Amino acid sequence: MKQVYLDTFGCQMNVADTDRMELILFHSGYRRTQEKEDADLILVNTCSIREKAEQKTFSLFGGLKPLKMANPDLILGLTGCLGQQDGEKLLQRMPYLDFVMGPDQVDGIAEAVDRVRDTGKSFVWTGFDKEKAYTIPELALPKSPGPSAFVNIIKGCDKFCTFCVVPFTRGREKSREPEELYGEIRHLVDHGAKEIILLGQNVNSYGKRGLKNPIPFHELLYGVAKIPGVERLRFTTSHPNDFTRETIRAYRDIDILVNHLHLPVQSGNNEMLQAMRRDHTIEEYRDLLFELKSEVPDISLSTDIIVGFPGESDAAFDDTLKIMQEVGYSSSFMFAYSPRPGTPANELPDSVPLETKKHRLQETIALQSRLTAEQGKAFIRKNVEVLIEGRSSKPGYAFKGRNPQYWGANIQGGEETIKAGDTVTMQVENVSGHSLNGPLAREADSKDIPPRKTVARQ
Ligand code: SF4
Repeated sequence: MKQVYLDTFGCQMNVADTDRMELILFHSGYRRTQEKEDADLILVNTCSIREKAEQKTFSLFGGLKPLKMANPDLILGLTGCLGQQDGEKLLQRMPYLDFVMGPDQVDGIAEAVDRVRDTGKSFVWTGFDKEKAYTIPELALPKSPGPSAFVNIIKGCDKFCTFCVVPFTRGREKSREPEELYGEIRHLVDHGAKEIILLGQNVNSYGKRGLKNPIPFHELLYGVAKIPGVERLRFTTSHPNDFTRETIRAYRDIDILVNHLHLPVQSGNNEMLQAMRRDHTIEEYRDLLFELKSEVPDISLSTDIIVGFPGESDAAFDDTLKIMQEVGYSSSFMFAYSPRPGTPANELPDSVPLETKKHRLQETIALQSRLTAEQGKAFIRKNVEVLIEGRSSKPGYAFKGRNPQYWGANIQGGEETIKAGDTVTMQVENVSGHSLNGPLAREADSKDIPPRKTVARQ
């Protein structure tokens, strides 16, 4: 077999796309290598959501150039959001590239490689097929998905937040047919998956476009929950505006839907939310969480935050710290704003000085660390249920996994009895960052965990 080296930048959608390309290429005679030097084909799946990710990509390609110079048969491809965004410009900047492809062409990866071999010419393949249904070929379904498996349910985004490139790089929303999704999930469970994570830029918008018989997101949740063998169900990412009361009720009704939600807030200030075109107020966001917490009191919440967006005053930034404290997020993805080409915010003066952005970012990180530590303390000496993902790299611990609230876990003991995919009970002895650490609970203690929800699977 030939060998392919794959590298990925960016979000979980990109990771899923890379996995799919690996499987499609496997059927074309390529197996994955971890060594660039051994590869016949190198693919870099790129991200353009932040400037830093772009810089890292260019520096990586700088290192790949000598390999191509030494071996002209080596095929170099750049895929993903940067490819969609910059297309032809990338070939001009890096003429040693063989092809540039956008995220909508992932399933055509084998075709792209054949085209380079057949013609010897470099090309750009981007754009969106608006008519084509969103479907994933069966040959791209993994045969050993691991205990936790991602399932793409929707691609693209119609929200057009002013700071974000996604609607331009991944196109407009398209959902996959529920029957195809149920089939994929049955396949994943048959091959060992225990936890299903429904994936999309805005999963709550599922079903609005691209389905023959549209169903809303919460109906999909009930449908997935009925599939035998799914032990845990998660989804990411959500937009507050599309998060419905029915979805809140699904949290109450579906016992395998975990008590965790990632709900990006971006800013705690209404003027900023408006400038970002988030189309909701901070009061509406707060009300939504209030309603959710009244149904699922032990729900753990995480978020995304941007500091230093154009026009963000000290007072507006304080509002962000305030909402973080009020909600008590268990974790956050926090970023200093950087203008992105092609987005509406790119037209605004980048008014917050870099030093101020850095300072604000440090403040949010420090606050989040305090919030995480406070919540972590509440787990100490408690028993928690952990889905085992594999061996732990933390010295002194045998296994790693996650609890339903999405805290990482490192477990001592069980070397003879535990395997990946098992759900075990651990007793939390200490907490480091967002990880719970401790030994397996004694069997008698394991029975102490109260039922998470009151209503059984529908
Ligand atoms: S909801 Fe906004 S931030 Fe999220 S992907 Fe869509 S445009 Fe980007």
